[in-house]
Amino acid sequence: MTFLQFYGGVGEVGGNKILLEDEGVKIWLDFGQSFKMGGDYFTGWLQPRSQNGLGDYFEFDLLPKLKGLYAEHLLEGTSLKYEEPRFDAVFISHAHFDHVSHMCFIDPIIPTYCGSGTKLFLEASEEAGLGTDYGAHNYRTFRTGFKIKLDGLELTPIHVDHSIPASYGFIIETSSGMVVYTGDLRAHGPKHEMTEDFIKAAVEAEPVALISEGTRMDVNEKRKNLSENEVLKGVEEILDRIEASSLSVLYTHNSRDTDRFSTFYKAAESYGRCLVISPRFAYLLLKLVKDEHLNLPDPFSDDLIRVYYRRKKSGKYSETDYYEWERIFWEKKITAKEIRKHPGKYMMDLGFYNFTELIDIRPKPGSPFIYSMSEPFDESNIEDQILHNWLDHFGLRYYQLHASGHMSRKELEEMILRINPKTVYPVHTENPELFRRFYDNIVIPKKGRKYTLI
Ligand SMILES: [Zn+2]
Repeated sequence: MTFLQFYGGVGEVGGNKILLEDEGVKIWLDFGQSFKMGGDYFTGWLQPRSQNGLGDYFEFDLLPKLKGLYAEHLLEGTSLKYEEPRFDAVFISHAHFDHVSHMCFIDPIIPTYCGSGTKLFLEASEEAGLGTDYGAHNYRTFRTGFKIKLDGLELTPIHVDHSIPASYGFIIETSSGMVVYTGDLRAHGPKHEMTEDFIKAAVEAEPVALISEGTRMDVNEKRKNLSENEVLKGVEEILDRIEASSLSVLYTHNSRDTDRFSTFYKAAESYGRCLVISPRFAYLLLKLVKDEHLNLPDPFSDDLIRVYYRRKKSGKYSETDYYEWERIFWEKKITAKEIRKHPGKYMMDLGFYNFTELIDIRPKPGSPFIYSMSEPFDESNIEDQILHNWLDHFGLRYYQLHASGHMSRKELEEMILRINPKTVYPVHTENPELFRRFYDNIVIPKKGRKYTLI
């Protein structure tokens, strides 16, 4: 017998925690944190106490109280007693927060499988992050086409294209037939052929169950569906308009989206500008160059890359003001003064939380600021208002250019009709019922309920 249980990603985008049980073998497909987790009780600096282990989470039912799942030291003082693991493995589809973050609670004895590239992302976050700690784990890495056998269950990870490298979908052979899990994916991205590989394998599998993401399953798709190449064209058009001038070009993108980094890199290269990145992003690149499949530039040897140091501690750019991991790029250092002096030489990645640097960089009015992320869902978003206040203050021109990491509604429909599974379980979506409009056999998961595959 094979069962599915959904503990996260139910009726919401993100937080996937899916339990698959087959003839006594129990595996988790992702173990992420919901973006809204605990929003009724926690906000800003009011957060669960790390000293109380899982106690603060259990108080508000923010994590399932399951025996044999969590690390022993996190259960101290809670009503759940520690037990030897009752789960066989955790499989992580990719390194996005909403798929991976709650791994930190899992018993380190339980094997954690992830892509080789995903492991590099996790290491970069822990070594150069803001206190990120995924906990100790018995890691086992895979690549596309590996076959991982756990008794009668066999899982094959297959690469997919998403807004972070090393993303996978899973094809799982169970005693009741094949189960396919999409993870997060898109068909319009620069590596769309990887998604196609996954879809083809899923079609061949003739699955009894397809667990499908549905981030962009909406009645009216309000957002533009740009490809990465269209984003590049948009950036180039902006650069064309200002080429002769000596304006700064500032941009921001999701820090793990290396495809978007490559887009800005290409644009900088064509227009003879250096690309200015943060020490944290340089550290991530340094990790990712170890994976030759990713084809990213080495921040040390690449002539186009400069690393931006903002003033810290003494305020005088003394080397000792910076963490050791930040200091390794000292040779590539650039400061606000240089960018202010020669704005036409650079394109700079400047995230919202570093906007105070604008006071030192002082870009000339009319300089473009390219917001290369999805627009906020909520129109009254306070950070968005503040972002625009800063841009207005400095007279910067706002542009928004973004290619989504997720399939459009049309792409989703096409994928599901092609795979033609016996049953679809929509996850990672606020609108699971919309799947019913184009496919008959939809099961809308309820949190914690056990579904038997037949
Ligand atoms: Zn994702």
